[in-house]
Amino acid sequence: MQKIAMKTPLVEMDGDEMTRIIWKMIKDILIEPFIELKTEYYDLSLVNRDKTDDQVTREAAEAVAKYGVGVKCATITPNAQRVQEYSLKQMWKSPNGTIRAMLNGTVFRAPITVSCIEPSVRSWKKPISIARHSYGDVYSATEYQVPNNGKAELIFTGESGERFRETIHDFSGGGVIQAMFNTDESIRGFAHSCFNYALSVKQDLWFSTKDTISKLYDHRFKDIFAEIFESDYAKKFKEAGIEYFYTLIDDAVARVIRSEGGFVWACKNYDGDVMSDMVATAFGSLAMMTSVLVTPEGHYEYEAAHGTVTRHYYRHMEGGDTSTNSMATLFAWTGALKKRAELDSLPELSAFAQRLEDAALETIEAGIMTKDLAGLCSLENVRIESTEGFIRQVRERLGSAL
Ligand code: NAP
Ligand code: MG
Repeated sequence: MQKIAMKTPLVEMDGDEMTRIIWKMIKDILIEPFIELKTEYYDLSLVNRDKTDDQVTREAAEAVAKYGVGVKCATITPNAQRVQEYSLKQMWKSPNGTIRAMLNGTVFRAPITVSCIEPSVRSWKKPISIARHSYGDVYSATEYQVPNNGKAELIFTGESGERFRETIHDFSGGGVIQAMFNTDESIRGFAHSCFNYALSVKQDLWFSTKDTISKLYDHRFKDIFAEIFESDYAKKFKEAGIEYFYTLIDDAVARVIRSEGGFVWACKNYDGDVMSDMVATAFGSLAMMTSVLVTPEGHYEYEAAHGTVTRHYYRHMEGGDTSTNSMATLFAWTGALKKRAELDSLPELSAFAQRLEDAALETIEAGIMTKDLAGLCSLENVRIESTEGFIRQVRERLGSAL
């Protein structure tokens, strides 16, 4: 069989622990036998980040901006214990944080759904993706605990000295104050990322804030989204047969629960933090959640939403059996391959990635799965496979589909 050729390299970011092991299995067993894989490889393992003073992470982010598509393995974000465990030169920052800051992107999380694992919300038939604005608001707020009587004021001093000044509250007794901000630039970037992502997955985009109460702050978000939609995306959405719609967050929550799913829900930073945990839990399992970083320029970085599954890795290193779910990492690969195929007009590559996803879903729907899913699954006969055993089962189905 002739292997499928690629044109532009995929930016491949290897990672740590159990997911690094899964990474290699996916490449060796499911991808390289079928594709003449072209990647630009960056080793983001903690050992190599330490060796290169984290330069490798910055270079990987630059490569994503250059080539447009990347796929990333989960990586360790070091804490004090990891500094000791790996004898690190310093407590390096989160690679995801570094990459997100360099690319100024928005993270979209979407569940992988299978018919035998039913969401807790009965009406949900299709996945819901959450886009969380990850800049500003309460996450970088200035807070003050008011000890006693006094006046709290909001003051802004412009570059040329002009001032805005207004009383927030005249305190009689103690209390608390919080001041937060966002920037037009960041909100614009967020809007572009959301519109691009909705177009890329061909799903409606919902956006919600509390603009009836926050008449300036939240309203600014609403206005910027509306303005960018009209100028840059209205026509493209029409052509793609999808819609953009804005609604109040309270209304959105009610509609989401009553919906069938199958849309992208864009949320402000705090709303996205809370709602993504709710949606993820209702869909079943972190091990079935994918994540993609989309930049305002339309560059894509795919990964699993879970971490490096440390507990399983230690068991693996002691020679024990593991049953670690590879679905989210596998879907990060197929997502990236599909996007590369779309940009380079490679229908064969796209069809292969789709068949690989189908083979993985069929394996679970046939009752063959890793341990984490067995408890969630509604099938009567379930066979629990090891980490590698599951991937080999997918390979069998893929082989017969090809
Ligand atoms: P985790 O790796 O997501 O694992 C937490 C637990 O969730 C596991 O112990 C396991 O439960 C279950 N789990 C997660 N993924 C699974 C999978 N694919 N298959 C089966 N079970 C799965 O989170 P963590 O233990 O908090 O973090 C471990 C390391 O990952 C940390 O060093 C952290 O910095 C890093 N991390 C990286 C990323 C990223 O790169 N995007 C994200 C989060 C965390 P049981 O043990 O009960 O089976
Ligand atoms: Mg949270």
